[in-house]
Amino acid sequence: MLNEFRADLHIHTCLSPCADLEMSPLAIVHKAAEKGIDIIAVTDHNSAENIIAAQKAAEDTGLTVLAGMEITSSEEAHILALFDSAADILKIQEMVYEKLLPGENDEKKFGEQVVVNERDEVSSFNKRLLIGATMLSAYEIIDAVHSSGGLSVASHIDRDAFSIISQLGFISDDLKFDALEISPLTGREEAEQLYQTYKTFAWISSSDAHYLNDIGKRTVLFHMKEPTIAEMRLAFQRKDGRKVEWDERQ
Ligand SMILES: [Zn+2]
Ligand SMILES: [Zn+2]
Repeated sequence: MLNEFRADLHIHTCLSPCADLEMSPLAIVHKAAEKGIDIIAVTDHNSAENIIAAQKAAEDTGLTVLAGMEITSSEEAHILALFDSAADILKIQEMVYEKLLPGENDEKKFGEQVVVNERDEVSSFNKRLLIGATMLSAYEIIDAVHSSGGLSVASHIDRDAFSIISQLGFISDDLKFDALEISPLTGREEAEQLYQTYKTFAWISSSDAHYLNDIGKRTVLFHMKEPTIAEMRLAFQRKDGRKVEWDERQ
């Protein structure tokens, strides 16, 4: 028996310098539930320090919070890493922190990077240069994510900055992304025309929310057994009846 799950797999918390400070894990969980979303992924820039809080905040709700991160490659392309468990993304975080370009976050210029708990209390301010790139190539990121059992998705391929296409010109066959993401800027029909050559990949669309009201702006519908990375992988590969559909309902 397959079920339908509505998912928004790209959401930033107040840990991302560019995200609104109202994006606390608790507020995000409430907003996602209100919008009828079943699965979200918390995907802060080069850090996963708000994941545990988001998963705890969702404990007594029907919402599944995937442990994610939006990693900036050395080519300055954004890549989503998605896992079930916080432990897995925290291992990826160790690698990312080691390879993050040195420097401190300039709060005045880029914004604060706030680590909070599941009750909305501030735990600390992350001082790393999360807005910057890592020294990891797109290939290295995809490999690391796959060896830890996660999914890697090319972020907002339709955007003219920080996307794999804007940075490399095209998506090489040997980049083993599990899916490509198209931003809310591009409609389905337009995407079909622009990215016909990339139909071998699964496509998703997500909000890339930096503000509470953006959550659920774009979602996908997964047809699968349960809200797990293993089932999502099957849906991306269209195996055993699983599938993912791009939902343009706002
Ligand atoms: Zn991005
Ligand atoms: Zn993003």
